[in-house]
Amino acid sequence: MRPLIAGNWKMHGTLREAARLAEGVREGVKGADLLVCPPAVHLHPVAVVLLGSPVAVGAQDCHAAAKGAHTGDLSAEMVRDVGATHVILGHSERRANHGETDADVRAKAEAALAAGLIPIVCVGETEAERLAGEAEAVVTKQLAGSLPDGFAAAGGIVAYEPVWAIGTGRTPTEAEVAAIHGTMRQSLVGRFGEKAQGTRLLYGGSVKPGNAAGIFALANVDGALVGGASLVAADFLAIAQAF
Ligand code: 13P
Repeated sequence: MRPLIAGNWKMHGTLREAARLAEGVREGVKGADLLVCPPAVHLHPVAVVLLGSPVAVGAQDCHAAAKGAHTGDLSAEMVRDVGATHVILGHSERRANHGETDADVRAKAEAALAAGLIPIVCVGETEAERLAGEAEAVVTKQLAGSLPDGFAAAGGIVAYEPVWAIGTGRTPTEAEVAAIHGTMRQSLVGRFGEKAQGTRLLYGGSVKPGNAAGIFALANVDGALVGGASLVAADFLAIAQAF
């Protein structure tokens, strides 16, 4: 399947810097689909910079409700309306900082699908869970609870991001990534059927130009969700070219 390299810009940059970064990746790469996920206030201007470009735009979150009295929140329809085609949901930073549960993430993913957005649902164990030998069980449980029915058929995407690898420069071994991705594939096929063979499984957590090729060579790794390195256009493109 065609890989997807997604950049999660998190809470970084000014409008000017966002536009410049989008310009820097605008041409895309031959061998992979690219997606950038700027802060919500930069979604529309970045989408304008990327008009006519093969690079897609995504949001970093959305609310589960279609509309209503939710001060400070954004609906899936709103982010779709300003140019997003994808939305990251259940990132570990949202699970930790905003108390999002698997059920919350599932409700958001349902809202995203209803609005015509492709959800990228994030799962991943903490360091304590990995040390306790629970990584695969944790990820399998998160997947079961966070993905709505119809997820695979609608083209939903999963990102495995071990919490302890995010922003730390540390990564699981290639064997560990391959094992978890294989487990995720099995559990998705078990629930959604053969359709889930085509579900993109991204790896995220300290992906850099130097380690991307090794990770991308693994079975069941269909791309990456990149944080820090996606803030430098040349690094993001180098990662994409490593596929
Ligand atoms: P880093 O690439 O900075 O480790 O972040 C990964 C991430 O959280 C992407 O969503």
